[in-house]
Amino acid sequence: MGEPPATAEIHAGLLIGGEWVSEGRDRRDSVSPVTGEVIGSFVLGTAEDVDRAISAARAAAPAWATKTVYERIELLEAVVRVLEARRKDLATLMTLEQGKPYAAEAWFEVDEAIGHFNEAALGARTLLEGRVVPSAVASCRNYVYRVPLGVVGAIQPWNFPLGMAAQHVAPAIAAGNTVVSIPAPTTSLVAHLFMQCLVEAGLPAGVVNFVTGEGAVVGDALTADERVNAVIFTGSTATGKLVAANAKERARLLELGGNGPMVVLEDADLDRAVAGVMEGALLNAGQACSAAELILVHDDVYDEFAERLAEAVRSSVVLGNPFEETTTMGPLQNEPTAAKVDSHVADAVAKGATILTGGARAERFPTELYWPATVLAGVTGEMAISQAETFGPVMPLQRISSEEEALRLIDESSYGLSAAVFTENVGRGLKFAERASAGSVNVNTSSVWTELALPFGGRSGKGSGVGRVQGHYALEAFIEYKTIIVDLGGAQ
Ligand code: NAD
Repeated sequence: MGEPPATAEIHAGLLIGGEWVSEGRDRRDSVSPVTGEVIGSFVLGTAEDVDRAISAARAAAPAWATKTVYERIELLEAVVRVLEARRKDLATLMTLEQGKPYAAEAWFEVDEAIGHFNEAALGARTLLEGRVVPSAVASCRNYVYRVPLGVVGAIQPWNFPLGMAAQHVAPAIAAGNTVVSIPAPTTSLVAHLFMQCLVEAGLPAGVVNFVTGEGAVVGDALTADERVNAVIFTGSTATGKLVAANAKERARLLELGGNGPMVVLEDADLDRAVAGVMEGALLNAGQACSAAELILVHDDVYDEFAERLAEAVRSSVVLGNPFEETTTMGPLQNEPTAAKVDSHVADAVAKGATILTGGARAERFPTELYWPATVLAGVTGEMAISQAETFGPVMPLQRISSEEEALRLIDESSYGLSAAVFTENVGRGLKFAERASAGSVNVNTSSVWTELALPFGGRSGKGSGVGRVQGHYALEAFIEYKTIIVDLGGAQ
């Protein structure tokens, strides 16, 4: 593998009503965070493009909704076959455009995308069943149907560009909806390749439409348009609030930010905890919504844990060219993310935190986006890194003196997406998980670990969003119940 592969530049178009649209359009270059080189370009879509894409999705909706579930499953299964066949192309482009390690992570994300289509196909067979509900009136028959919502507007982030697109599209179309999908600008090329895979699999015209461009232009146009029946959004809490304000009651699923506290109690197996924290903090260079962004360590084991973690990071993390098989971590994806990591680390150090390893951008790489794995000791609640989402490979260690203190800090956090706890007393861990205020809580494994059949989303009332994705829970989000009462009159 070694050097980044020499790939032809990709000039992505829009997909509207089954037609690729690109001629004569304003474009923006796509620059690889790995090499700093231009790897292609994408169309800067306009509000008119979004308008046409919504019209195409509306036109395709009745025919798609009335396909049998078996016909829709056939398409999902065809998509799986195409994604499997294009695995290498998808993983290569993802590493080049997003920056994650090719062997360790990009292949896994293709698997995840395939998994979303398999889960949707599996769930569609049973979950779309309706019910006949006993009536209080002898002549009446009550039917409850599960029906699609109609046109779904779906907006994705750049951290898992393929996984998130599949997480939106697969359940939406399985349930009989049509889609207008908008990727994050900086990962438009891999999202475009995913659309090509859908077309290759036999996607009927208009069932999924694709518009690239600035979020504030195309995203705003999509979420404000009342012809869109439901909006699903995965991204930051700040943008999620704008989306919710625009879409109002049509905001169906909001999958937002987190700061994944991981708690190391005094009876934890420290080797497991070190491995779990590293996995949680360093997957995708920390650019994950469920990343371990705050490590709450009990006083009794704090010093030993800090030392062991710093040593493990120094001896095992390899930052570098993500196409090298030995590389465990690639560059950050974009400059605003790297700048946020700079500022959170600087703020922590200014307020008294100590850098045990890492601490500043790495030099001598092709771009300035290579941030080393960093362990910060002496973190306190006054530091931005303890409160906000950093989205980088930083492990901030904050002391706690009790389990209750950890639960209180998790409860007080403005996020509530994921958390984890390490303890050798599994009963204690389970009770902790039951009380912790987050959508997912893992015991003795990292905060980023999930399975595609499990529901995933933020705790109600926190800044991590509403609704659940993954498995059949996602299908539930893309249907609504329709009640039909038939009065048979004299014929009962
Ligand atoms: P972002 O909010 O900056 O952008 C997300 C998407 O919204 C992009 O496609 C962007 O172009 C678009 N957008 C921007 N302005 C918009 C507007 N006014 N209206 C509509 N859309 C607009 O987020 P990001 O930086 O791409 O992604 C990182 C964030 O995503 C992190 O906060 C992370 O925690 C979150 N995330 C959450 C989950 C989850 O499941 N909860 C999963 C992945 C990422």
